[in-house]
Amino acid sequence: MTDPSAQISRRVAAIEESATLAVDAKAKALKAAGDDVIGFGAGEPDFPTPAHIVEAAIEAARIPRNHRYTAAAGLPELREAVAAKTSRDSGWDVAANQVLITNGAKHAVYNTFATLCDPGDEVLVPAPYWVTYPESIRLAGGVPVPVASDESTGFRVTIDSLEAARTPRTKILLFVSPSNPTGAVYPPEQVAEVGRWAADNGLWVVTDEIYEHLVYGDNRFSSMPGEVADVGERCVVINGVAKSYAMTGWRVGWMVGPAAVIKAAANLQSHATSNVANVSQMAALAAVGGDQACVATMREAFDRRRRLMYELLDAIPGVTCPEPEGAFYAFPSFAGVLGRDLEGRRPATTLELADVVLDKAKVAIVPGEAFGAPGYARLSYALGDEALAEGVKRLAALLS
Ligand code: PMP
Repeated sequence: MTDPSAQISRRVAAIEESATLAVDAKAKALKAAGDDVIGFGAGEPDFPTPAHIVEAAIEAARIPRNHRYTAAAGLPELREAVAAKTSRDSGWDVAANQVLITNGAKHAVYNTFATLCDPGDEVLVPAPYWVTYPESIRLAGGVPVPVASDESTGFRVTIDSLEAARTPRTKILLFVSPSNPTGAVYPPEQVAEVGRWAADNGLWVVTDEIYEHLVYGDNRFSSMPGEVADVGERCVVINGVAKSYAMTGWRVGWMVGPAAVIKAAANLQSHATSNVANVSQMAALAAVGGDQACVATMREAFDRRRRLMYELLDAIPGVTCPEPEGAFYAFPSFAGVLGRDLEGRRPATTLELADVVLDKAKVAIVPGEAFGAPGYARLSYALGDEALAEGVKRLAALLS
């Protein structure tokens, strides 16, 4: 009999399971089996979606138009609203035909690289990076080229490191600020500097702005095509409603770019998924077009948890935690803990440490290996205050 696994295409067989979802699934399975697990794994707000957005969806479900196929690129009123929102928040003036509505921002990432990459095209990927970027670049035939950064620059890449990684095959610079997994935010002058470098070198910029509203303290979000007008000629902005409006399960994101790129990506989407669920699109319309007070309320809660998380983590011997500036992740170094005896086990890597921590403390964290950064781990603080404090307490008890 043929071995079915030998029949899987090389392209798909090479894909690794999303480590963040894998950690979350293991934690959820332990929870379902009765274990009291605290999950710092998933990048998901714990709040319910704001009521006015849910109401808009209920209303939309009653309208027969929404029971049918609609245009693959998205409902015209949502494309308009996203164009207006991009002009407002990113300072980049775009029209509705420059917007493609996708099944979450993750789908926008996939569509973008599928549309822009030819085999062998190199994409500069600042590291530590969100796992999905290199996988979708590879799926598109592109070559992800990590550009390292660490605490010494606040996990921000420098022009020197970008320049050192650039080759004649470099086509695209990926950029994400605030960052998953590090929580780093580039100040406006650095966004402008990197944008000018990309424009001067004729590179495309794919910039993921999904955490734009989640910045804390003195940090400010700024958009690369908004900072550097020339970037807009060769730029795709990725965004969506998941993080700002607690809408991870609704699956609405978008890509914004030059009309010809958006048209090509819409052709691809028309054969892959067609339109995003209309009820979800109407919910997203209520989110981006409605009252933004809910965003500020959730940001305040994240900010409180951020400070708690970072102070508690940094106090654990062997753990150093830079202060997160945006998104909802802490990204501490656990280098000082590795090799220690932890209730009979001696993890040598953060991959092993994550397993020990789940096993002994019933706490789920994502090892840095998943982001190209061994020695670190990512902990999301988008969970309830009490669970957060209890989880870090358990970690401290195991590691101290
Ligand atoms: N971009 C970044 C940087 C993210 O962290 C995530 C979610 N983890 C996404 C995109 C995808 O979001 P969505 O749920 O809209 O697919």
